[in-house]
Amino acid sequence: MNAPKRDGHLDGHLPPEHPLSPHAKYRDLPPVGRLLSNYAVRDLWDTDFARLPWPLARQRRRARDFAERHMAPIADALDLAPHLAPGECHPDARALLREAGRQGWLSYFLPRPLGSMPWSTLAYPAIWQCSVIVEEFSRSCGGLMLLLSAHHLGAMPLLLAGNARQLLVDLPSVYRRCERGDPHLMAFAITEPGAGSDAEDGHGAATYRPGVVATPTAGGWLLNGRKCYISGGDLATSVTVFAALQGEGMESWTCFHVDAATPGFRGARTERKMGMRASGAAELEFVDVFVPHARVVGALRQGWAINRATLNASRIPVAAMGVGLARAATEAALDFARRYTLGGKPLVHYQEVQLQLATMVAETRAIRALVWQEARHAWRPRQLHASLAKFHATDVAQRVCEMAMDLVADHGVLHEQRVEKIFRDVRLTRIFEGTNQVNRLSLVEDWQGQLLDADHSMGV
Ligand SMILES: Cc1cc2nc3c(=O)[nH]c(=O)nc-3n(C[C@H](O)[C@H](O)[C@H](O)COP(=O)(O)OP(=O)(O)OC[C@H]3O[C@@H](n4cnc5c(N)ncnc54)[C@H](O)[C@@H]3O)c2cc1C
Repeated sequence: MNAPKRDGHLDGHLPPEHPLSPHAKYRDLPPVGRLLSNYAVRDLWDTDFARLPWPLARQRRRARDFAERHMAPIADALDLAPHLAPGECHPDARALLREAGRQGWLSYFLPRPLGSMPWSTLAYPAIWQCSVIVEEFSRSCGGLMLLLSAHHLGAMPLLLAGNARQLLVDLPSVYRRCERGDPHLMAFAITEPGAGSDAEDGHGAATYRPGVVATPTAGGWLLNGRKCYISGGDLATSVTVFAALQGEGMESWTCFHVDAATPGFRGARTERKMGMRASGAAELEFVDVFVPHARVVGALRQGWAINRATLNASRIPVAAMGVGLARAATEAALDFARRYTLGGKPLVHYQEVQLQLATMVAETRAIRALVWQEARHAWRPRQLHASLAKFHATDVAQRVCEMAMDLVADHGVLHEQRVEKIFRDVRLTRIFEGTNQVNRLSLVEDWQGQLLDADHSMGV
C-alpha cells in the first residue's frame, strides 16, 4: 500500500501543506514537542516492522519478499486449478515447495545447523517468528500458506515430545531434505470421521469411539482406521497420527510418526473445498500399517497431552492467518476504492468509504496487536491464551473481509477482485484447529478453576 501523495488530498480533508494541517504544523513544534509526536509519512503496515525486534523484522521482510515473488503470482492459478487426487501436485505448487524448502521456510523451527532458524531469533518464542511469517504468507495466498504451514503442524509433535533421536536426527533429516529442494512434507492427523472438535478438545471424550486403533505386534504396532481433512496429507512423506490403543478409549491416544511409504497407508481422497484450495485436505486410510516402536512419539498414552500442546502452539499462528487475510482484504478494498469512480470521482473520496476503511485498518491492527501480545510470551503457550487469540482474531478477520466485500459490492463476487478468494479462504480459519465455538469452550475449560473459585480474582 503506497502512502498518499503529499500534494493530493481526499475530499473532506485538508491538504498536508495547509496551515491548519497537523502535518504542516507539526514542524512548528519546539524540539521536545517534535520528539514526543510523530507525523512521518510511512506505509501504514510498514510501521509494524519498526515495532518488531530486528531479527523478527528481518524474517518478516524476507517472508514478504518470498510471498510476493513466489506465492502471489501463482495464487490465482492454483485456486482455480482442477481438483487433484491424493499424490498429485500442480507443477507450480511443486516448484513453490522446492523453493520454499531451499529458502528455509520448511525448516525454521530448529536453529542452524539442525534447521534454518537464524540464531538471532532464538531470543524470541518460535511461535512469534512463525506468526510473523504466516501473516505475510496468508496475505499473498491463504491456500499456499496452508500448503507450507501444515508441514510445521505435522512436525510439531516431534518438537514437543520427540526423544533425542527424533529431535536431533529424524527431524533434522526431514529439514535437510527440504533445504536441498526435495521437500519431505509432514502432516498432522487427529481428525476422524465422527470426531473433529471432540477429538481436539475432549468435550466428547467419554463417548468417543476410536477412528484409528493401534494393535500391538512384534517390534511395534499395526494401525487400522481412517483420518479425514488432513491438510497436506495428500503430499506428505510422513504423518504424525494419533491412535487409540486396542480396547481402550481416548485416554490411550498415542502419537505415531508414520512413513507414508509403509504398505497399507493410503491417501483415500481429497476434498473439494470452498477455500484455501491450493492445499489438499485428505482422507487417510490405514490398513495394518506397521509402525516400529522407535517411531512412537513420546510415551504410550501421551498422545492426548501432545495433541493439546500442539494445538496450543499452533492456534496463535492460525490467528495470524486471520491478520494476513484481513490485511489482504483491506488492501484489495483500498485498491478498488482508489481506482473505481462514482459520480466522477474515485470512491475513496467518499467519507462513508473512508469510515469503512478506517474501521478495517483498526480491526486488522488490533488483532495483530493481540497476536503479537500472545506470541511474544508464548515460550510455553497456554490453552486459554491460544484459543482466545484464535477465535477472536479469525472472527474479526472475517468481519473485515465482509466489509471489504460490502465496499467492492457487485465487483466483489468476481474472482478478479481478489476479495472473493480471500472471503472463501478466511472462512476456513474459523473452522479448523477446532471450530471457534469449541475454542471458546477451550478458553473456559482452562479458566474454569478461577470461574468456580469465588475468592479468586478473575484476572485473565
Ligand atoms: C481446511 C481444513 C483443514 C484441516 N486440516 C486438518 C489437519 O491438518 N489435521 C487434522 O487433524 N484436522 C484438520 N481439519 C479438521 C478440523 O480441525 C475440524 O474439521 C474442526 O476441528 C471441526 O471439527 P468437525 O469438523 O468434526 O466438527 P464437529 O466437532 O463435528 O462440530 C460440529 C458442530 O458442533 C459444534 N460443537 C462441537 N463440539 C461442541 C460442544 N462440546 N459444545 C457445543 N458445540 C460443539 C461445533 O462448533 C460445530 O458447530 C481441517 C479442517 C478443514 C476444514
